[in-house]
Amino acid sequence: MTEKEVRTLIQGKLSRYFGVLPQEASREQIYKAVVMSVRDILLEKRQQFHKVMKNKKGKRVYYLCMEFLLGRSLKNNVYNLGLQDAYEKALKSYELTLEDLYEEEPDAGLGNGGLGRLAACFMDALATGDYPAMGYSIRYDYGLFKQKIVDGWQTELPDVWLPGGEVWLTQRTDKSCIVKFDGWVHEEWSDQGLKVTHGGYKEVEAVAYDMMISGKNSEAVSVLRLWRARNVSRFDMKLFSQGDYLRCMQDENEAEVISKVLYPADNHYEGKSLRLKQQYFLVSASLQNIINDHKHRYGPLNLLPEMAAIHINDTHPALAIPELMRILMDENGFTWDDAWAITTATFAYTNHTVMAEALETWQEDLIARRLPRIHMIIKEINRRFVSELWNIYPGQHALIDNMSIMSNGMIRMANLCVVASHKVNGVSALHSEIIKDSIFNGFYRLWPDKFTNVTNGIAHRRWLCQSNPELCALLNDCIGEGYVQDASQLSKFRKYENDSSVLNRLTEIKLLKKKQFADYAYKKEGVLIDPNTVFDVQAKRMHEYKRQLLNVMNIISLYNELKDDPNKKMQPQTFIFGAKAAPSYLMAKKIIKLICYLAEDIRKQPKIREKLNVVYMEDYNVSMAERLMPASEVSEQISLAGKEASGTGNMKFMINGALTVGTLDGANVEMSEAVGSDNIFIFGLRAEEVDELWTKGYNSSRYYNTDEGLRRIIETLIRGFNGESFSDMANYLLTGSPVADPYMCMADYESYRQTQQKIKSLYAEDPARWAKMSLNNIAAAGIFSADRSIKEYADNIWHLKSLKS
Ligand SMILES: *Cc1c(COP(=O)(O)O)cnc(C)c1O
Repeated sequence: MTEKEVRTLIQGKLSRYFGVLPQEASREQIYKAVVMSVRDILLEKRQQFHKVMKNKKGKRVYYLCMEFLLGRSLKNNVYNLGLQDAYEKALKSYELTLEDLYEEEPDAGLGNGGLGRLAACFMDALATGDYPAMGYSIRYDYGLFKQKIVDGWQTELPDVWLPGGEVWLTQRTDKSCIVKFDGWVHEEWSDQGLKVTHGGYKEVEAVAYDMMISGKNSEAVSVLRLWRARNVSRFDMKLFSQGDYLRCMQDENEAEVISKVLYPADNHYEGKSLRLKQQYFLVSASLQNIINDHKHRYGPLNLLPEMAAIHINDTHPALAIPELMRILMDENGFTWDDAWAITTATFAYTNHTVMAEALETWQEDLIARRLPRIHMIIKEINRRFVSELWNIYPGQHALIDNMSIMSNGMIRMANLCVVASHKVNGVSALHSEIIKDSIFNGFYRLWPDKFTNVTNGIAHRRWLCQSNPELCALLNDCIGEGYVQDASQLSKFRKYENDSSVLNRLTEIKLLKKKQFADYAYKKEGVLIDPNTVFDVQAKRMHEYKRQLLNVMNIISLYNELKDDPNKKMQPQTFIFGAKAAPSYLMAKKIIKLICYLAEDIRKQPKIREKLNVVYMEDYNVSMAERLMPASEVSEQISLAGKEASGTGNMKFMINGALTVGTLDGANVEMSEAVGSDNIFIFGLRAEEVDELWTKGYNSSRYYNTDEGLRRIIETLIRGFNGESFSDMANYLLTGSPVADPYMCMADYESYRQTQQKIKSLYAEDPARWAKMSLNNIAAAGIFSADRSIKEYADNIWHLKSLKS
């Protein structure tokens, strides 16, 4: 596509949709016209791809996920389509740059954190790998809340993304369907078997909105289909004419509230009725859509497992399992056994956590009321499964109860997923071992071959190529551009580990990205950051298990050192935090407050401020992460070992040359293996040591009693910062109930402090060695590309062929 064609396309959009001439158009109108032009190109490409697919009769993957944390799309699509030059030139006549327009786009924040971002990275990798793929989620009117910090306290504002984000969506009225809630179920035996009738239900219309996601130098375009809930009977004319106007409006809202807002809890389940409705709404609409398309394309449904792989990302879409059973039996006349064979051959499931508070369990009576037919099917799945278990393990009550899908009036969604999927995977090597040893041990012993691992990955084109073009220019000079399509080629960069001119350029680029970030932080939040200090960054959701508090404890010890001796020789450092807390997560909000008050306290002491700066960046999201990763020098990945399933933030930092300080948790383990233990800073207890300590009875006071430094930190917390005591934090660490210091900050503190000291001395004393380590991290980051993850899913789980192959 040429500059001229692009210009004509944009002009056409401006005149058709906004009725303006190019010279009259506002920046917002130009942004929208440009998006529409890109959308046209993508739709055309998708149609081409469809034709090819139709002839090939290839298998497709359908990725079900309640969250897709997409961020912005314009830059990604223009980059992937290779249209930067054409657009840049075409925009000259408007006296605008592409960069100006990128800033017009709101983030599509339809996810909480790592899980939703993973789904978004996978759509990119699927398209680039030329795999036929479709993602399904909900078109939330409001994405993840916007975070506003008021006097240290997080407050939440609605995320109004549609005004600028909707131009990416193409409404597909032809794909609408009905989802049914509530009502009664009637069973009747006849010669044809059991006939089930569902009546008295409430209907909700699911309306499809498609978003296209391009690949890089590929033919495929991934489609993300987002469902919006709409009331079926628009207006109840009777109520309306009776003058009950408000009642009439209320009924309408009842359905539409389903797609109103994303639940803001990360790694935590909410047993709320509305959340259940959201989950069933997603899976019912998606399964109906998959089945209709399959019938239309291929005909008989016994071919489904051959032509479709359906993936359940975490247990949130687990109701897809009984929903497919329902559609096969009640609507297509399959017997239980045939339906079950199709279902189990079609689904695969990814587990994302072993933490009890995140494992979904639904009250049986809630499901019975809202989804009576689905409840019956789950009961029958469980009845058959448990009776099988009684045959295999006679008399083993405890084991069978542990593996059962239903127990004590609760339905365990993870167990349902394992029973009904042909593959179950964890998201890092360590995590995949842990699930076999712990929550799924019974299942693992029964079906060892069902369990596998696919280590997470990131869209390296977004997180490296688009976010850090300066670093890519250096990479291009050294190793060519092959790594863009094939991240494993980053390893060629290792050859330059002793090349001082390359190392110098690397250091200069990092300084430039730090300056750019400091400018951005000043403009956005008015905070001052000195780019000549080391940037030590922890950016991720705020969670006790991620241990932002451990980071703070080390900062307090530095603060105390400088209080004692303001002239102490110390590498000047800036600690940057970015994190949202779930609105109802009180402890997480208190930690945010602690960080903000500590930052403010330091700001008021000019002498300390010279060497120690703490910055809390408000409203951490994908677009902020894209600026922050390239500017980071130390990456904090300090979760309690065994708790972080994989992490993907760790990979984004690594590929941009930050050095990791981390526990042997999640993908940190594999990062350490890839880069070598000399190029990463590992500290703290290992997962098995954590378990052992826990089993013996963890007592945090032990560390308090024997460690002078820890005692001082606790005292400082009680004395407080900026005029506010944080004795509640001291209590949390020492006397909290039911357990003090549940994530073992006290146990890992000394190891962490020493490692931090080592890192900062190295930074101060041996910049050449630092640069070399940084280079080695970039060179070793290739295996953490989502392209690699997707190839593993396609080969080992979905049995999906690339169009390329
Ligand atoms: C990558 C990413 C995450 C995940 O970070 P982890 O450190 O893996 O928890 C969360 N939020 C945003 C905005 C991200 O881009």
